[in-house]
Amino acid sequence: MTVAPPQDLPELTQANIGRLLAVFAQMRAGAALPAHGVDDACEYCEMRGLCRKAEWGAA
Ligand code: SF4
Repeated sequence: MTVAPPQDLPELTQANIGRLLAVFAQMRAGAALPAHGVDDACEYCEMRGLCRKAEWGAA
């Protein structure tokens, strides 16, 4: 089963490329990487110790 996004795919692709370029530039500049998981998922997540969401004050 395939799912088509409601947006124009070439526009969505360009927007995603722009987002990734911006995010990687921010990481290279030392930006923090806070955990953004949804609480309902975090409750059962086995990676909780790695992302340290609680340390970010987000949980
Ligand atoms: S616990 Fe961390 S890694 Fe797991 S879903 Fe939440 S934010 Fe993501």
